[in-house]
Amino acid sequence: MTYDLIIIGGGPAGITAGIYAARQKLNTLLITKDFGGQVARKAVAIENYPGFEGISGLDLIQRFEKHLRKQKIDIERDEVVKLKKIGSKFLVWTKSKNKFEAKAVIIASGADPRPLEVPGEKKFIGRGLSYCSICDGPLFSDKAVVVIGGGNSGFETAIFLSKIAKKIYILEYGPKVRADQINQEIVKKTGKVKILTNAALKKIQGKNFVDSIIYQDQKSKKINTLKVEGVFVEIGSQPATSFVKDLVDFNERDEIKVEFENCQTKTPGLFAVGDVNVGRYKQIITACGEGAKAALSVYDYLQKFKN
Ligand SMILES: Cc1cc2nc3c(=O)[nH]c(=O)nc-3n(C[C@H](O)[C@H](O)[C@H](O)COP(=O)(O)OP(=O)(O)OC[C@H]3O[C@@H](n4cnc5c(N)ncnc54)[C@H](O)[C@@H]3O)c2cc1C
Repeated sequence: MTYDLIIIGGGPAGITAGIYAARQKLNTLLITKDFGGQVARKAVAIENYPGFEGISGLDLIQRFEKHLRKQKIDIERDEVVKLKKIGSKFLVWTKSKNKFEAKAVIIASGADPRPLEVPGEKKFIGRGLSYCSICDGPLFSDKAVVVIGGGNSGFETAIFLSKIAKKIYILEYGPKVRADQINQEIVKKTGKVKILTNAALKKIQGKNFVDSIIYQDQKSKKINTLKVEGVFVEIGSQPATSFVKDLVDFNERDEIKVEFENCQTKTPGLFAVGDVNVGRYKQIITACGEGAKAALSVYDYLQKFKN
């Protein structure tokens, strides 16, 4: 069977595309590893999504998913590993060895946390090292932990962890933290957070679980050991595009280039929306807006295709 549309990703962009596509009566399949994407990992309340003055990421995304599931749409929980266009049709392969076919595809695969790329990172994933404070934070009750990254995400993670952990360090590579003033003030008020600037992470160590990290003071060049049982990585994200290479063009940040008007890539019938594309302002509302725009564009594209 050939779908009208396959949507890859179940974050805000993909879910919105799914709702719009179903309402246009497109025969649609949404394939996603999980629902919520980065929103499900958000540690503090979301305060900038209209209609909700403050809502947790999990609550918001559950509402999105419920809305999606009310539509006539097929959903597969799986990971897309390859995407090709043969003739006028797109072929999509998944990790569980399924193959699907569609006339159009919307890539809404968002972004994955950027890895640290230091010794010990791979060994300690799930053994004290985490990319998701909301998922793993509760395991660190009364422990000392370090958050790597002094931007807004790092500070929000520290705020969330301050309700759980005994002591929190924020490790910032540069000379100054980059978080908004408001987040800096909240962190200060917790009385539990120590900020280390000019600090370059060198290694994560321990026996079976993390027991410390090694970092270098960029100014004095001194090597220091910090005793912590948890390491939370908040150094930004990278577009999740490993399954699509030759069908799209990328910018220098590996984001997919699209036309502003309709989010179409260089390949007719292939669209990219949300954090995965070159859009400058990466927010829930912008991801949703692009999801809507692309689904409506797919409808128009398929009309032309018919004639
Ligand atoms: C810590 C943090 C705090 C934030 N706070 C806010 C905030 O307060 N307000 C705000 O507006 N925005 C906030 N953002 C930004 C916002 O979360 C993103 O802009 C938004 O989630 C982007 O949506 P998306 O659908 O494009 O991608 P994502 O949310 O990344 O979702 C991508 C989806 O695609 C799936 N996927 C990925 N690869 C594949 C594959 N190969 N096969 C199948 N499925 C795949 C993922 O599992 C996921 O479901 C925050 C982001 C972070 C990291």
